[in-house]
Amino acid sequence: MLETLRKIVQEVNAAADLESVLDVIVRRVQRAIRTDVCSIYLLDPQRERYVLMATQGLNQKSVGRVSLSVEEGVVGMVGQRAEPINLEDAAAHSAFTYLKGTGEKKFHAFLGVPIIHHRTLLGVLVVQQKLIRKFDESEEAFMVTMSAQLAGVIAHAEATGSILQISDHTKTEADRKFEGVSGCVGVAIGPAVVMTPLADLDGVPDRKVDDIKAEVATFKRALAQVRRDIKRVGRSLAKRLRSEERELFDVYIRMLDDNALAGEIIARIKEGSWAQGALKQVIGEHVKQFSMMDDPYLRERATDIKDLGRRMLTFLQESGPALSEIVFPENTILVADELTPAMLGEVPTEKLVGLISVHGSGNSHAAILARSMGIPTLMGVVDLPYTRVEGLKVILDGYSGRVFVNPSDDLIECYQEVIREEDEVNAGLEGLKELPAETTDGYRMPLWVNTGLIADVARALDRGAEGIGLYRTEIPFMIRDFFPSEQDQMETYRKQLEAFAPRPVTMRTLDIGGDKPLSYFPIEEDNPFLGWRGIRVTLDHPEIFLVQIRAMLRAAEGLDNLRIMLPMVTSVREVDESKRLIAQAVEGLREEGHNISQPLIGVMIEVPAAVYQVRRFARRVDFISVGSNDLTQYLLAVDRNNPRVADLYVPYHPAVLKALQFIVLEAHKENVSVSICGEMAADPGGAILLMAMGYDVLSMNATNLPKVKFALRGISFERARALLNEIIVMGDADKIQVALHSRLKELGLGQLTRPAIPD
Ligand code: PEP
Ligand code: MG
Repeated sequence: MLETLRKIVQEVNAAADLESVLDVIVRRVQRAIRTDVCSIYLLDPQRERYVLMATQGLNQKSVGRVSLSVEEGVVGMVGQRAEPINLEDAAAHSAFTYLKGTGEKKFHAFLGVPIIHHRTLLGVLVVQQKLIRKFDESEEAFMVTMSAQLAGVIAHAEATGSILQISDHTKTEADRKFEGVSGCVGVAIGPAVVMTPLADLDGVPDRKVDDIKAEVATFKRALAQVRRDIKRVGRSLAKRLRSEERELFDVYIRMLDDNALAGEIIARIKEGSWAQGALKQVIGEHVKQFSMMDDPYLRERATDIKDLGRRMLTFLQESGPALSEIVFPENTILVADELTPAMLGEVPTEKLVGLISVHGSGNSHAAILARSMGIPTLMGVVDLPYTRVEGLKVILDGYSGRVFVNPSDDLIECYQEVIREEDEVNAGLEGLKELPAETTDGYRMPLWVNTGLIADVARALDRGAEGIGLYRTEIPFMIRDFFPSEQDQMETYRKQLEAFAPRPVTMRTLDIGGDKPLSYFPIEEDNPFLGWRGIRVTLDHPEIFLVQIRAMLRAAEGLDNLRIMLPMVTSVREVDESKRLIAQAVEGLREEGHNISQPLIGVMIEVPAAVYQVRRFARRVDFISVGSNDLTQYLLAVDRNNPRVADLYVPYHPAVLKALQFIVLEAHKENVSVSICGEMAADPGGAILLMAMGYDVLSMNATNLPKVKFALRGISFERARALLNEIIVMGDADKIQVALHSRLKELGLGQLTRPAIPD
């Protein structure tokens, strides 16, 4: 059964559009369980009706014509109960409705299973039989497995279908909505520009060309280069290969013939596609055909075709304009399968208004960078057929985590109003720079910033930051091809320390691993967030740690505003070892004649084990800083990068709030100051609660700093304490957020948390 299942899923995946997807499913399922009928009813949410979309066994003429309301029939019951219904004689059931014109009268046995994708009901998969009998357990299990596996494919095909209709302009399905998670709040409206890593065939967007002749010529040039390249590789390997292996290169050359792949690609270009898109389509079709073959040798040939496709794409991309030459449209919304920090730098800042990533989550690194740059961002928009949206207008709503493709004029107007409101709020905050973050009853709260890029420093100073609470030193490491030298690091760190002196700068030691890989130091792990990351890596590599510490100490020479912070600490031993290495670096540099002062040393509280050791840590260090991003992920067992569980990643979870309060109380028992540098401090509501808990410093992205300052200046410390007392006893994260929002509204601070968004 497993093999049948695998084959069906593979074939369905290879189908070109929704119609073919559904058609393959009904045909193959009917055959697999030898039943008389297999049909799919898809839910039309607007009309609240199930429409018969494909069938094998019922009257074909009724496809697309027959429908039933969500409360009607046994199909309706399957949807309402969200569970399989297995009946030996459906007609005898009280809920049964006969669907006219389908010819289903003669069928008795009925098994319907719901098709559910991400908690959303897409439709119902039904099998029927003439006999009066119950489908057996293995058949039921097969159908449930089938439906669960196919739900994603159907959702994707539905989305792609509607996007295709939009781009063809034959049908105007407006306001097509996709959900993701917020990476940076704000609203953006503009054309989508899809960016893909080089030589990624699957990621090539669809594009039309007007000058077909020129496009064919471009393709032929690339083709000639690939032919030459393959011949060259073949020649250079000739001596080392057996003759049958050498033949592979001849096969490649033959595949590139005008009568083979090349001819098919040129035909697609002549239909108006750009060369890269035509290449993707043709290669994709051949790869799918080969991968479905039973013969393992032939199946393997799919790899050869893929390789050939990638080679051709590389030449096509080289012959196209370089990224730096691309003219990005005004209000570009950059769309990528996996947004990387490097991509953010490709688009001129004045043209870039929004970012959308199919993968990743609100706490991925790219999102954190986007926040520091203040660009509205959506992450984890998993159902967006991103290669199909090139050039289409989109609205990105970073507040509610939604993106609308091809929005209607009414919706655009609504969102333009939201942007105007936002501009008003921001204009009102501009005068705050010189003012302290002081509550109405005179409680002073230091506001620091999180940095990583050099550009962050100017923005942070411009917004009135009083120190750096977290400098993510891994960012300069991530944008290089090898470990930076001590001198390199020293120069980079000096810029941060100098710009802020005499204000304090907290430099975190290298925090790689988890979702922060270095291309030149790959860490392959099944479970990277529970693996080798943060201080674990650097203590295993004292040579890397020591070079970094020496660079930090040298950079602070004469400035004396350095605080060194250790990430991902779980045990006292790690703190002691790190302190020993820092002392060794201080001593070594002094011996070399440098005038080094002892830096302040702190630990981050990011893992649950550290929460219960705060006092022990506090006795050993000068300060404590809470990394609430990781702490939330580990306390709730929710991967901060996984869009599937993004709605479970809730910093206002009662357990997280309790832990945050416990940490401050414990650290203060040892008279050690506690800051927080996770994203929660950047949320005005969160900042009020953290101040009330007793946090000594709040460190956040520069973008949100003025909003947080405005919020703290709009409340008394006493009122903040009362709010905390009200909230800390609540047991439900949603209720906590609602309560927080309504209290902020009462204080006239409602506009800071979220402007009114149309639904
Ligand atoms: C955190 O985990 O809260 C934190 C500040 O560190 P990072 O987001 O870089 O992991
Ligand atoms: Mg962290």
